[in-house]
Amino acid sequence: MTRAPRIHVVGAGLSGLSAAVTLAGRGLKVILSEAAPQAGGRCRSYHDARLGMVIDNGNHLVLSGNVAVQRYLRAIGAEDRLAGPPHAEFPFLDLRDGTRWTLRPNDGVVPWWVLSAARRVPGTALRDYAALARLARRHPGKRIDEVLPCQGPLWERLLRPVLVSVLNTAPEEGSAELAGAVMRESLARGGAASRPLVATPSLDAAFIEPALAYLRGAGAEIRMGRRLRGLEIDGDRVAALDFADGAEPLGAQDRAILALPPWVVAPMLPGLAVPDSFRAIVNAHFRLAPPPGTPPITGVVGGVADWVFAFADRVSVTISAADHLLERDPDALLATLWEEVAVALNLPPEPSPGRIVKEKRATFAATPEQDMRRPPGRTAFANLALAGDWTATGLPATIEGALRSGETAAALALSGLLVAQNPL
Ligand SMILES: Cc1cc2nc3c(=O)[nH]c(=O)nc-3n(C[C@H](O)[C@H](O)[C@H](O)COP(=O)(O)OP(=O)(O)OC[C@H]3O[C@@H](n4cnc5c(N)ncnc54)[C@H](O)[C@@H]3O)c2cc1C
Repeated sequence: MTRAPRIHVVGAGLSGLSAAVTLAGRGLKVILSEAAPQAGGRCRSYHDARLGMVIDNGNHLVLSGNVAVQRYLRAIGAEDRLAGPPHAEFPFLDLRDGTRWTLRPNDGVVPWWVLSAARRVPGTALRDYAALARLARRHPGKRIDEVLPCQGPLWERLLRPVLVSVLNTAPEEGSAELAGAVMRESLARGGAASRPLVATPSLDAAFIEPALAYLRGAGAEIRMGRRLRGLEIDGDRVAALDFADGAEPLGAQDRAILALPPWVVAPMLPGLAVPDSFRAIVNAHFRLAPPPGTPPITGVVGGVADWVFAFADRVSVTISAADHLLERDPDALLATLWEEVAVALNLPPEPSPGRIVKEKRATFAATPEQDMRRPPGRTAFANLALAGDWTATGLPATIEGALRSGETAAALALSGLLVAQNPL
């Protein structure tokens, strides 16, 4: 008698969790292996000894138009773990002259908000907003500076701050195609698809722990601290997964999904092109309860900080494309960022305890050249698929892209398998 097929998902970041949840939900036997002692990868929470509290490695913003995020949270029963305003609202501060404004795209698809000076960015005129429509078109292979004039008030006060966070790459050199894909799925669909949403109280509580609980409930095996070292190849199939704790042979019906970073996958699949240039993200976390009414996120222009996130027990600052800050002394950086936070949120100048977290290879560089190096989920091997925000999702390295790549890999693993559908 042949045994039921097993699907090995290697890597318990969001792409691996998405694949595992999708497959376990279809009644498949899933074995999830992860090298680190905890799941979550680049989207994780931990207890920070210096601050004496649980913090996230970095702030993560998703948008209400992120359909895979909604699907994933629904599947794991965590739809209530994202918080945000009922309508799209983005308060901003320009530190250079103290100007404050709130960008308020209207809910519907017809963008009448650009007609209202009160809803537009100060210093901009209606004609400037043609740039948004231009960006939302397809621009394969083009850099943003080939599509838009990267200057002027709309660029400095809206497009640059938004695009640097969307791409985690200096937007001038960023891919217009990837930026446009995000625009088409958010702002171009109106404010209702552009509401900012943040995991509360932590990334772990929203995206990770409920997924692990779901997988355990569905009978998946979850094995932390289990590192994949390589693959044993036999002709057109992977014969075994070579884990540090021993080889795992793959039966004829078994499948494997590698949901690993590109620099781990590349040596295992010689000849596969993968992104090889990365950008850092730096976060500063301050322990303090922000005053009631503090907006969940505030955009900061003209300083070091990009966005200030307010949680019930902490305030966190995100700086994208932050390679220039990697060598900065953490305490000096905390002092600079506290000054900006205090102005942005009207706080007293005495600093609160803080922690800098630097993620050196936070995402691949979202340039047209790097985008061309992203492989599809399907590989040359019939029983092996790839997942990860760096695979060819058509999106920049985001939670939405990571989750979709997991769904794609799950579909590839399922194809060819005669599997009884889970009636639930
Ligand atoms: C600071 C920061 C801020 C971000 N902000 C946002 C944001 O605001 N919005 C947004 O949408 N996205 C954001 N992102 C991007 C988002 O976190 C990623 O797109 C997503 O988490 C990637 O998931 P993944 O599964 O593709 O990769 P990973 O999370 O990197 O998962 C790979 C997993 O493989 C494991 N692994 C590695 N080697 C091995 C091995 N040999 N064997 C077994 N396991 C192994 C790793 O430990 C890891 O758990 C941010 C990222 C960072 C770092």
